[in-house]
This record gives sequence, structure tokens and C-alpha cells, in this order.
Amino acid sequence: MNSIQFKLLLSYLAVLVIGVVVLLLAVQLIAPSAYSRHMLGQMPMPGMGPGRGPGQGANLGLANFRAGMFEALGYAIIAALLAAVAVSILLSRRIVSPLEKMASAAQRIAAGHYDERVAVGGSDEIAQLGEQFNQMAEKLESTETMRRRLIGDVSHELRTPLTAIKGYMEGLIDGVLPASAETFEQVHREADRLGRLVDDLQELSRVEAGAFSLDVHPVHLADLVQTTVKRLSPAYEKKGVGLHWNLPADLPQVLADEDRVVQVLTNLLGNALMYTPATGTVTVTAAQVGGEVQVTVKDTGIGIPAASLPHIFDRFYRVDPSRSRGAGGGSGIGLTIARAIIEAHGGQIWAESGGEGQGSVFIFTLRSTLHSS
Ligand code: ADP
Repeated sequence: MNSIQFKLLLSYLAVLVIGVVVLLLAVQLIAPSAYSRHMLGQMPMPGMGPGRGPGQGANLGLANFRAGMFEALGYAIIAALLAAVAVSILLSRRIVSPLEKMASAAQRIAAGHYDERVAVGGSDEIAQLGEQFNQMAEKLESTETMRRRLIGDVSHELRTPLTAIKGYMEGLIDGVLPASAETFEQVHREADRLGRLVDDLQELSRVEAGAFSLDVHPVHLADLVQTTVKRLSPAYEKKGVGLHWNLPADLPQVLADEDRVVQVLTNLLGNALMYTPATGTVTVTAAQVGGEVQVTVKDTGIGIPAASLPHIFDRFYRVDPSRSRGAGGGSGIGLTIARAIIEAHGGQIWAESGGEGQGSVFIFTLRSTLHSS
């Protein structure tokens, strides 16, 4: 009822109705006088010479009648024209002016004013377009903010190891630092960190742009967990952290890209190892929940403060940057990549923790072969 199509139809009908009403009124008012002129034309006038013949009277009457009808039509046309002008002014105000506003808002956004929005009123197609325009502007604004933050973050992340390498080299040149294997090892470690950061960034840009193809097929989760556990057990043994897994035998297969899910598990188990002190334990479990399989990685480690929980999947976010770096920790990108991979599978990933010292739980879901849709 509120669509532009309906409004246009209504406006055409309004012009038509006004024209017809005026035509009827004019006919109503003009017809009697045309009729009387016609009657007068038929009556012979005494003292005016030979009376007009009946044929002549009929002709004159017809001419009068026709003139009367044309007069009425003329009024109707004028009224319809005026109505058309009024309706088109009203309609164009409703359609053209919001479009003009959107055009100028688009120009301002193109010029870099990403906070530009248009006022939306009503519920017709123009209002819907306005709402979608605002949504698009919001998305552009957040992308721009993310881009700026990313550039800032990347420069910051690159600066730290670069500054360290520069410091070691200056120390070596000035003779302040000994040219020992230990110094070179430290330089090598920083260069290694730079290399890992660049690799992570490359991987992140690939997964965030969706520029990776998933080879999804039914797989047994137990196989993926075993592959990951085999890969990480030496590190767990070395640190003295227990690694357990317990998957139900009747767990349905999951629809997954094996390599990518192993990558996620490696990240979660790697983090759990890094943030769990010796003698602690890490347990992997899984359960079927509806049409999905829920995988849980639980550790008895340092835990995550409640304030940090909503941010740990943000890129470059670390609960404690100094501790993470000192312990040879990553760049704060691992969980961001894990989330992108799980979401690409149509699943979800989140973390829970009772707080510092209470351990952490990471849970992700994957569609099972029993998934209906
Ligand atoms: P990083 O490569 O620094 O580990 P991640 O994206 O994998 O980056 O993790 C982000 C941050 O989340 C980590 O720096 C750490 O502070 C926190 N975190 C991740 N896993 C755990 C865990 N199992 N226990 C405690 N904190 C964790």
C-alpha cells in the first residue's frame, strides 16, 4: 500500500477523477444554458422578418450544444492539468528530493566523510533505499576504521622486532655487545619473529578476504584430533603438560576441510600449551548437539579475564602483550584466523573462562553429516 507503484497509480487516478468531476460539473452547469440557447434558436421571433426554418434552428442548436460541450471539456482539461502539476510537484518532492540528498551524501562519502548518513522517513522503496544506503555507509566506515587500525597495528608489530635488531646491530658496531653466538642468536630470534609475523599477516589477509577454498567432505573428527595430538605431543611432554582427549565412539562425521580444522586445533592446543603451566592438563572433548558437533579444548592454565574474553578473537589482541612476547608467544593473529576458518565452515567459535588462574575453554562447532539444511 505504501509502495511508489501504488502512489503513482493513486496520483494518475487523482488527475483522472478531478478531470472527470470538473467535466461533469461543467456539463451540469453549461448544458442548461446551451439547451436554452438551442430552444431560443428554434423559436420564430415575431417582427424579425421571415422565421428561421426548422433545419436552420436545429443547426444553430447543435452548434450551441457543441460549443457548450467544448467549454465544459476546456474547464475539465484545465482542472486536470492543474491537478497533474500539483500531484507531480508533490510526488517529485517525495521521490526526487531524497534521491538528491542521497546523491550528495554519496559524493561526501566518496570525498572521505564516512560518517555521512541520510534521514529516512516512511516505508516505501525510497525509504528502503535510504536505509540500505545508510547500512552501506556504516559498513564503509567500519572497513575504513579497520583499515586504519590494521596499518597502525602492523607498523607497531613490525617496529618492535626491527627496533630490537637495530639495537643489537648498533651494540655490535659500537663494541658494546660482544660478537658472541648468544648475541647473534638474539638477532636471529627477532628476525624469526618478523618472519612469523609476515607469514601470519599473509595468512590472515587470505582468510579474511575469503581467498581460500575449502575442500569440505565428511571426516571423522577423531582422525583430526589424533593428527594434531601427534604433532604437538613432543612439545607437551617437554613442558610437562598432560594432553588428553575423549571423543564418543558414536560421534557423527563432520563436514570439514581436514587441513583447515587441523590448523584450528593446532592453534587451540598450541595456545593451551603456552598458557598452561607444567603439571597442568589440556583435554579435548566433543559432543553432538543437534545437527552439529561441538568440539571443546579445556585447559587448567592461566585463564582469561572477563574483560578480555570479548576481544581475544580480534586481530593482534593479546591479554598480556609482554608475557605473550616474552614466552615466545604469537602475534595475536592465531585466533582471528581460527575464527575465519570455522565461520567459513558455517560454524561458530567462542571462549569461556572463570577468570585469571581458572583455566580456559575454547569451543567450536562444525556441521555434522546429520545436518538437515
Ligand atoms: P597468540 O598468537 O598471541 O597466542 P591468539 O590469537 O592465538 O594469539 O590468542 C590471542 C590471545 O588470547 C593470546 O595472546 C592470549 O592472551 C589469549 N589466549 C589464547 N588462548 C589462551 C588460553 N588457552 N589461555 C589463556 N589465554 C589465552
